[in-house]
Amino acid sequence: MEGAGVLLRRSVFPRASNEFDPFLLFDHFAFNNPMEGPLRGFPMHPHRGIETVTYILDGSVSHRDSLGNSGVIGPGDVQWMTSGRGILHEEMPRRGESGNIFGFQLWVNLPAAQKMSQPRYQEVNSSTIPTIQKNGATIRLVAGELDGVFGPVTEIAASPIYMDVKLEPASKFIYPIPDGYTCLAYVFEGTGEFAEQVVESVSMVVFNDDGKQIEITSETGVRFMLIAGAPFKEPIVPYGPFVMNTVEEIQQTLAELRNGTFIK
Ligand code: MN
Repeated sequence: MEGAGVLLRRSVFPRASNEFDPFLLFDHFAFNNPMEGPLRGFPMHPHRGIETVTYILDGSVSHRDSLGNSGVIGPGDVQWMTSGRGILHEEMPRRGESGNIFGFQLWVNLPAAQKMSQPRYQEVNSSTIPTIQKNGATIRLVAGELDGVFGPVTEIAASPIYMDVKLEPASKFIYPIPDGYTCLAYVFEGTGEFAEQVVESVSMVVFNDDGKQIEITSETGVRFMLIAGAPFKEPIVPYGPFVMNTVEEIQQTLAELRNGTFIK
């Protein structure tokens, strides 16, 4: 349960061990009646020291923030929010025509040198996300490069790769992962073989850091988010919606929230 009582699947969450560096959190929200009960959201809350990436496949999320931005993230859209030194925002899911909401939120760390940077948003409309068809795979490329095509989300500290990959039955997807990258796959439909291991949805796959390319095959079809990025290898201190490098920086953040200087 998160926010004002939102039930979600959380496969990665911020902790000091930071084993998925540079990724801090992965939430999957799916309000599909009657399983998840009444619709609730995430009323106004702060962030510091991270980036959040919201990707919606069904329904929408309406949002507004302390920078004066507001809008709706609809099916196929992406919002990439760099909290930097501080932002307050509200994220409220709405059901689509199907009656469902389905989407993901990924948190990416910021390196120490950028934790107190200027906050910003990258709003990406569905129509501007490249869709690539390749050997029975349909790939929506949010960030990173595939066959010379680049995703629209750029200038992110972790140089991430983030893509939605759907494999038709009896097809294969091979992707070269840069040396040293952390690589995850969130499998949310169907079944596939990930590095020769059968994985059924819903599962988070963690690839070992010992291969330069990943290979996924499927007999019956599979869909997953591929998530990869360069680790920062810095100590982290997570505290709720803040992820800093030291306890003192968390104490400073809480003091600023109390005395009204968090938003500058
Ligand atoms: Mn938030």
